[in-house]
Amino acid sequence: MIYLDYNATAPMRPEALEATLAALKSVGNASSMHYSGRDAAAKVDVARRQLAELLGCSPGEIIFTSGATEANNLALRSAYARGGVLATTAVEHPAVLETARALTAGKPDTLVVVPVDSNGIAELEPLHEALRTREVALVSVMLANNETGVLADLAGLVTAAHEAGALVHTDATQCVGRLPVNLADLDVDLLSLSAHKFGGPQGVGALFVRRGTTLPYRPLMIGGGHERGWRAGTLNVAGIAGLGAAAEAARLKLRAEAVRITELRNRLEAGLLAHVPDCRINGSSVPRLPGVTSVTFAGVQADAVLAAMPHVAASDGSACSSGAPSPSHVLLAMGRTRDDADATIRFSLGYATTEEDVERAIKAAVGSVAQVRALLAATAEP
Ligand code: PMP
Repeated sequence: MIYLDYNATAPMRPEALEATLAALKSVGNASSMHYSGRDAAAKVDVARRQLAELLGCSPGEIIFTSGATEANNLALRSAYARGGVLATTAVEHPAVLETARALTAGKPDTLVVVPVDSNGIAELEPLHEALRTREVALVSVMLANNETGVLADLAGLVTAAHEAGALVHTDATQCVGRLPVNLADLDVDLLSLSAHKFGGPQGVGALFVRRGTTLPYRPLMIGGGHERGWRAGTLNVAGIAGLGAAAEAARLKLRAEAVRITELRNRLEAGLLAHVPDCRINGSSVPRLPGVTSVTFAGVQADAVLAAMPHVAASDGSACSSGAPSPSHVLLAMGRTRDDADATIRFSLGYATTEEDVERAIKAAVGSVAQVRALLAATAEP
């Protein structure tokens, strides 16, 4: 097997597996006052500090959640309760876009969704226009796109939003642990992340809420008041311990891994471009995440290409929407045709990807596209 689907989920880092297993083997509710509870709470404290160090924030600004979907929901629901407009982009993950649509259903004038250009970069002018002319509660722009890896430059937008009294949220799920994210410089108010994208376990993530942010918070889980009332429910100590260990491992290797993975991604793209006629890389002329490439193989169905190379794990569109027959909303927003969207495969590499994986994946994809194209040519009407 060649695993090139890190944007769907990354394999657990050994450090994270060890921390998760150690926590699973011990008993303790982090809210209990006795020694077992204190031991569990200490594990959570360590993880909170490890994550805060990766993000350049303080541990008290982190709320642990079940993942980025929940963190995005929490951010958008709370910010929308301020009153005013939600402003976001057409290429957000459904956990942002669909939440924004659901919250503003029946009040469509309170939602602004800005388009992107052919590279997937959000057109900022309509956002600035909304900030000048409307009362905007929240601007939510993802830091890195999950399908193309295209990065957003938020600096000017954050300043304009704050001047207008709006809060800024970023879904940084694909960026955290892969490129430096420093909340001392990136002046957003809210940030979402998920452990399983950077080598932690699935089902655990966090929402960063900058100290001093005044939000009429809207918890999705109401109960015992855990996480300062933001997220009730017994803490997932093992998951949180794994998240913390993954954050620390990622932080210690961040720059070296980013360089190595970028080289591997570039090698993959060069191999495909050299050996597959009519293929194109989406978003390749703008800054992207190190390990992601979105490749359109003209004229074929991505799922047929993937089926012809079952030993390569990659993704047609995003895993979150796979199974759904609709084409990628990200590629359509970038102006691609439906046929091109259906002909696109996302390969995503990560910390454990090797040169051999990449060479074998190139060979497999070259053969598989040729095989599908030959079949199409043979069955085409004369
Ligand atoms: N946002 C982005 C950009 C993502 O890629 C994902 C995962 N596909 C999510 C949010 C949802 O994350 P989770 O799986 O933790 O709910």
